[in-house]
Amino acid sequence: MADGKSSCDYGFHMSITDWNDEAKKEIKEMTRQGVTSYKLYMAYDNLRVNDKELFEILSAIEEEHGIAGVHCENGDIIKAVTEKLKAEERHSIRLHPKSRPAEAEAEAVNRLLTIAKLAGTPVNIVHLSSRQGLKVVQRARKEGQQVFVETCPQYLILDEKEYNRPGFSGAAFVCAPPLRKKEDREALWEAVAKGEVDMLGTDHCSFNMKDQKTRGKDDFTRIPDGLRGCPVAEYGKVHTE
Ligand SMILES: [Zn+2]
Repeated sequence: MADGKSSCDYGFHMSITDWNDEAKKEIKEMTRQGVTSYKLYMAYDNLRVNDKELFEILSAIEEEHGIAGVHCENGDIIKAVTEKLKAEERHSIRLHPKSRPAEAEAEAVNRLLTIAKLAGTPVNIVHLSSRQGLKVVQRARKEGQQVFVETCPQYLILDEKEYNRPGFSGAAFVCAPPLRKKEDREALWEAVAKGEVDMLGTDHCSFNMKDQKTRGKDDFTRIPDGLRGCPVAEYGKVHTE
């Protein structure tokens, strides 16, 4: 689809969302086709792999000298916290960051790094959003583990205040991991300044407000997760409105 139409160089990450002998064979085929980077999920029931699978997949990718980028959020914790919020009849968009707490990211980062260490492979933590998650990375690096980190403009420029916008407009900022607190933003900026962040990526994932974001009009957990990571310059404008 992109061939001949793109104005920049590009590569692909292949998502592995289920794991079996067939998928294992396909990793070799992907290498042949030039795809050496994979995306794995630790959240989202329809996408995530469990710890055993994570270990096996990381090992298989390592055999091909590829690398995995991992969405680090503990899916079970998110489910439990969300159910609790909903049981209390709390449906506001304001609760989005509470339903996906920084602890759920830090725990997943820690578990990923433990499993990657056992599998003997470096990993790439994509869209890191929290100070707590960053701390886990810093600790692992201090102990000599090779970890790559990406963060995104939205986690550097915006914070959870956006969810307090009037009416449903905060839905535009619902993404996962969610926008965090000011302290998280500051910690990430500091990490960028110190050279601790290897990549800045947009994680661009846009949805229309009409007919897409509005699916969650009466239930914030049904708002599709994703925001426009590309128009960074516009953030400033939106932010000071
Ligand atoms: Zn992700």
